[in-house]
Formats: sequence, structure tokens, C-alpha cells
Amino acid sequence: MTRAAAAKRYYEKNKIAINSKSKLYYQSHSEKWIDYNKKLSSYYNKCVFNPACKKVGGRGAKFYNYFCLVCGKEKRVLLSHVEYNYKIEGRLPKYCSRKCYGVSLSKKWRERSPYAQKIKKLLKTV
Ligand SMILES: [Zn+2]
Repeated sequence: MTRAAAAKRYYEKNKIAINSKSKLYYQSHSEKWIDYNKKLSSYYNKCVFNPACKKVGGRGAKFYNYFCLVCGKEKRVLLSHVEYNYKIEGRLPKYCSRKCYGVSLSKKWRERSPYAQKIKKLLKTV
């Protein structure tokens, strides 16, 4: 019997005990990992998304800078991420956050946005 087959056999024999053990482990440690991930994401947001930060890109990473259509903040994203999203979904980044994306969906913004005002001007001249 190979090692993998033996492990599989052992797992099938003691399925309930093993699963309950791992469940207990993840329940007791989940808060720790959530905090750790929050720390990592806050670091990423502060340095990578903020074009003023000079810590990022020292080893030759390429970035794509753009302005948010709602609030006008400048933001940068990894160029490889942009290319991947363009290949798969066919879109470029427009908004700086989920908040701005939500604002862009609202009726008020659709009436006030610079794009809508341009259309209004064109309609008036015609
Ligand atoms: Zn924004």
C-alpha cells in the first residue's frame, strides 16, 4: 500500500474526529487571521493605491495611473492586474473605491455627472 492510499484509508476511518478537530482550530484562530488580513490590506491600500508613496516599485513593477470619475482622486494599480482584467472582462478601472462605484450608480450622480452635463449642453445647442 502506498503512503497516499494509507492516508486516505486513515482519513476515511477517522473522518468525524479529524473534521471536528480542524473545525475547532479554525473557529479558535479565525479572528487572528481576519486581523492579519486587515493589516495586510490596509498596507496595500496605503502604499500601492496612493501614487505619492515612494516605497513601491523599487524592483521594477509597472503601474497604471488613473483618476476616479466621481471624486477625482489619482490612484494607481499594478499594470498586470489591469491587463488581466481587460483580457477577461474587457474593462479598465474607473473608480477609486466601492463607495465611489455605488455613487456612480445612483440617480443623482447620473444627472449631475460631467458626462450628463455635456449631453445636456449638446441638446441645448441643437
Ligand atoms: Zn473616487
